[in-house]
Amino acid sequence: MERYWNKEIETMSREDMKKLQDERLVAQVKHVYENVEYYRNLMDEKGVKPEDIKSTEDLHKLPFLTKADLRDAYPYGLLAKPLSECVRIQSTSGTTGRRVVAFYTQHDIDLWEDCCARAITAVGGTNEDVCQVCYGYGLFTGGPGLNGGSHKVGCLTLPMSSGNTERQIQFMRDLGSTILCCTPSYASYIGETLHDMGYTTDDIKLKAGIFGAEPWTEEMRKSIEKSLGIKAYDIYGLTETSGPGVSFECSEQTGMHINEDHFIPEIINPETGEVLPDGEVGELVFTSITKEAFPLLRYRTRDLCVLSRKKCSCGRTLIKMSKPMGRSDDMLIIRGVNVFPSQIETVLIEQGYAPNYLIEVDRVNHSDTLDISVEMNPEQSEDGLKENEKSLAEAVKKMLGISPRVHLVQPKSITRSEGKAVRVIDRRKLHD
Ligand code: ADP
Ligand code: ZN
Repeated sequence: MERYWNKEIETMSREDMKKLQDERLVAQVKHVYENVEYYRNLMDEKGVKPEDIKSTEDLHKLPFLTKADLRDAYPYGLLAKPLSECVRIQSTSGTTGRRVVAFYTQHDIDLWEDCCARAITAVGGTNEDVCQVCYGYGLFTGGPGLNGGSHKVGCLTLPMSSGNTERQIQFMRDLGSTILCCTPSYASYIGETLHDMGYTTDDIKLKAGIFGAEPWTEEMRKSIEKSLGIKAYDIYGLTETSGPGVSFECSEQTGMHINEDHFIPEIINPETGEVLPDGEVGELVFTSITKEAFPLLRYRTRDLCVLSRKKCSCGRTLIKMSKPMGRSDDMLIIRGVNVFPSQIETVLIEQGYAPNYLIEVDRVNHSDTLDISVEMNPEQSEDGLKENEKSLAEAVKKMLGISPRVHLVQPKSITRSEGKAVRVIDRRKLHD
């Protein structure tokens, strides 16, 4: 039977949810206009007054916020509460090079941890569970967010942070961890290490994993589920909106329910800013309607995905977002073709390789080059190397329409990730 952390909210009727969002949005816009000079200026420039926002239908009238705004306003420019009322800061992991600092009041921490508690409950977590959190702790939101959620649910929480993988497995075995929280790339590494240490899934008690903070494919999901003997669930979030738990997967495993009572999602055309109807792919935009200290309105995430209101078998009525297919700025344009690293990952795993790979793009004599290094499987011999590289290159070409150079490299020669994996090196940027 499906369990909920907050049944009333998670299964609320569309009309009631809209009413709640309308009320919260109106109050939030007022709060931001009065307290955040930076955003007030943006609204004034656009000629929008708080009174113009009467319901979610008026959301499109508000100006967007982008990562560039966050940089301009760093560190305090978007703060909406006195620092004396703030109790925490967290910061982005800096994947895209520009750090963002987010502020939290105690209320903000509570609502964030509550969102994470919903995610843990949705994968079957209760106070009987042992929850091993191997997201990084510290400024990164992964560890603190899931840690807080796990406490709320009442799980026995193991605040492991990332790294020291053999010790992770020792604790997992000794203390009977049942839920694992980390990045999917680290989960994959933990699975590999488990088997390298001579154990099988019978030696651990894990039943579920909550993996997010980076894009991962369905093929990667299957690979992790097999190596750890679990169900692997996705979780999404970003520092700007609090951290993980903005959306979470349920038993159906077909996308993540967005905690709409706190975050109103929109999908826009990233080029024009025009709002797109549900079902179309575009850039995800969030409006935080309950956060006090750092309440971003219409924040452009740059993550590309699709929203769906299709009825979910878990009973939740919260809107669902698809797995982000990557950030709009993750997309590589190689010889004029749009390429997402996730497409390459799909092919590699489909062809029977483990998700240990590196994509390198460069420009030689005015022409783009694409090199994919992937580890041989341990049972593969060097004999058929060239043929195997060729057939993999053909499979990639079939998917992308462009030919890569594929290099099968020794097992374990590609650096494993304990946090967010770095899978792409684009050297063209260095030449620019
Ligand atoms: P940074 O921008 O430095 O990576 P964050 O740690 O706040 O900072 O990362 C948030 C970003 O991580 C999101 O905007 C998204 O691109 C990515 N992300 C988070 N969760 C997922 C997920 N489940 N699937 C794909 N991407 C994710
Ligand atoms: Zn569901």
